[in-house]
Amino acid sequence: MEIKRGIAVSPGVAIGPALVLDTELYRIPQRFIEPGSYPDEITRLRTALKLAADEARENQRIVSEKIGEQYGGIFQAHALMIEDPGLRTEIESLIRDQGFTAEYAVSRVMRRRAKMLESLNQAYLSARAADIFDLERRILKYLLGRRQEQLHKLKQPVILLAHDLTPSETAELDKQYVLAFATEVGGKTSHTAIMAGVLGIPAVVGVGRFLTEVSGSDQVIVDGNKGLLILDPDVDTLEHYEEARRTFVHFEEELAELRDLPAVTKDGVEITLLGNIEFPEEAAACLERGASGVGLYRTEFLYLGRKEDPTEEEHFQAYSHVVKQMPGKPVVIRTLDLGADKFSSVTDPHSQERNPFLGVRSIRLCLRNLKLFKTQMRAILRASALGDVRIMFPMISTLLELRQSKMILADVMDDLEDEGIPFNRKLPIGTMIEVPSAAIMADRLATEVDFFSLGTNDLIQYTLAADRTNENVASLYNAADPAVLRLIDLVLKAAKNANIPVTVCGEMSGDPIYTLLLLGMGVRQLSATPHNIPEIKKLIRSIEMKEATEVAEQVMRMDTARNITNFLREKARRFLPEAL
Ligand code: PEP
Ligand code: MG
Repeated sequence: MEIKRGIAVSPGVAIGPALVLDTELYRIPQRFIEPGSYPDEITRLRTALKLAADEARENQRIVSEKIGEQYGGIFQAHALMIEDPGLRTEIESLIRDQGFTAEYAVSRVMRRRAKMLESLNQAYLSARAADIFDLERRILKYLLGRRQEQLHKLKQPVILLAHDLTPSETAELDKQYVLAFATEVGGKTSHTAIMAGVLGIPAVVGVGRFLTEVSGSDQVIVDGNKGLLILDPDVDTLEHYEEARRTFVHFEEELAELRDLPAVTKDGVEITLLGNIEFPEEAAACLERGASGVGLYRTEFLYLGRKEDPTEEEHFQAYSHVVKQMPGKPVVIRTLDLGADKFSSVTDPHSQERNPFLGVRSIRLCLRNLKLFKTQMRAILRASALGDVRIMFPMISTLLELRQSKMILADVMDDLEDEGIPFNRKLPIGTMIEVPSAAIMADRLATEVDFFSLGTNDLIQYTLAADRTNENVASLYNAADPAVLRLIDLVLKAAKNANIPVTVCGEMSGDPIYTLLLLGMGVRQLSATPHNIPEIKKLIRSIEMKEATEVAEQVMRMDTARNITNFLREKARRFLPEAL
């Protein structure tokens, strides 16, 4: 058994067979053959080895002709490795003696060899490990008949293990078949992580290298509460996790009972809990989890897996679907925040930027592409005739960007008026505060908008210069860092002076560790991923505001993220031991 520690990004526990995705998405369908059928399996293996070696020799010929024999030699070495009698004997004995399928035996042997090379810690030999993976893929290709598994076509439950998953791959996962996933890279608030939460799939990211140590169909456990990936669990661990899984399900059921109760502290302070959504269908999940509206509708997902921009009508259909499900409840629609780790599409010609998080992302992209921006604004305004729609601009970093955006919105309003199309001319206009410059200028921005929404996911990364998707800086990337908290405090005070509401909508708002602190700092509106809402509500209903204020006062006197996190975890554990 091996326990790997990563970053917990979506709660829950899952136990099941691994589906190891490499870049070509091959999977090992099963681990064992029928007893006694090994002669056929060995024949299959030998055929695949021969075809893979032939392919390597053909590559050798082509590459030698094109760019020279010294390069062709690389493939000659591949062919020799595949033809190595020692390799064949090792694989065949696993098939014969252990009853493994040819695919599983190949994967086991090749990965063992690659791992040995990697462990030697020499750059040259580690690079050879990559060659071995390449050979594994080649042999599997012939065994599996070029079968490339599409993630959304899974037919049996698995635990997905991958180097990385893109947000769009994650969005396509089917919860019925993907019990959980774990990735080698990634950070707490990457969009892959957020998608896992949205889908309710337990997930751990940023585990570091582990794919060499696991083969498809191996039994694994993902503990999305503690951020653990357990390979090859022993009997005691399996029993412990079966129990943990049952407890988690029970806790979730208990929370579901809170749905129709208000989010009010024991001393009567009412907190507004709203939902963050990405897809129109999630409006239902918000209501189910007891949200009193949509505090953040991320609209990038309309661009998911498409080659062409969505039309105004497509935007409108999506927004009106949400608004109609939320009669009398606010729906804050955020204009496009494409770029950086959000999918690039044909709309995003800047995906090759050297530093996309600091590049033409989000509002910057929209202000350079007015057709795109206005198309979306028209749809949002049309939806405003149907309910309590509010518009919000992301990634505002200067006053001028906000003013420009508002001017464009006013233009679009005039157009709609000329065309006789109904909309709400008084729809509230807000801005995200997620760039440090905006937080510093919050007092000025506050006089020009109707509301603020604190995007802590980005505010943290830009304040601490720590990429939200990079596991190597995950220890720096911390909502409890005093620098981040000072900026939040500044924004809350500016909003209070200008008498405008503030919602916190980054992942921090759905993490119970921070609830006492945020309330104590003066936050009265939180917008979180729907599945986090019941837990936050339970916590709010078990505290008094006096306790929250004291916590905030103490925290603001502390000077390191580590001390603050430990202190907050201890406090929150008192009220919500099951979750922490
Ligand atoms: C944020 O940055 O906190 C936020 C809510 O926006 P996103 O996660 O979509 O960047
Ligand atoms: Mg953001």
